[in-house]
Amino acid sequence: MPRAVFLDRDGVLIEDVDLLVREHQIQLLPGVPAALQQLKAAGFRLVVVSNQTVVARGLATELDVRRLQAAVAQAIVARGGPDLDGFYFCPHHPNATLPAYRIDCPCRKPRPGLLRQAALDGQLELSASFMVGDRLTDVAAGKRAGCRTIWLRTGQHLAPLIQTAEPLEPNLVPNFTCDTLAAAARWIHEAP
Ligand SMILES: [Mg+2]
Ligand SMILES: [Zn+2]
Repeated sequence: MPRAVFLDRDGVLIEDVDLLVREHQIQLLPGVPAALQQLKAAGFRLVVVSNQTVVARGLATELDVRRLQAAVAQAIVARGGPDLDGFYFCPHHPNATLPAYRIDCPCRKPRPGLLRQAALDGQLELSASFMVGDRLTDVAAGKRAGCRTIWLRTGQHLAPLIQTAEPLEPNLVPNFTCDTLAAAARWIHEAP
């Protein structure tokens, strides 16, 4: 069964600008295309998993989010990186401005729904897969899905925890912590 590296978007692939709703806000983080290329060459599927509260808040539509993701994917390829294999996002929030998105869903990280859906769709082996994110909620989602986890210290790792439906596990420890996706890719490459 194929394995994946699940990637949070903001703070992992691109700069976290808080509310990304316009293409000109997209800034790839250094070394991202090359790191993704290494992972792809090692046989991993590259799947982006992202909470998109901008939809719940009415700041962007689901189509906008997909267009922005296409721009991120294009920027990666334009700088020598590989094609991404999947994009899954949660448009919901328990306190959403738009009633249609105001649900306590199973897909908002730290819940593992996005990873589980991707695994179902792609027949991915979660126990052989990895989750890379800059927030502890990413780490929690990865662990709950049965993946190994990498916590990136790119800035938002220090931000207050996002609102979650239930408290995070008190003993939430990533398998590895580092500062760049390149370092994460090296560690994944050497992981048994
Ligand atoms: Mg992030
Ligand atoms: Zn959701």
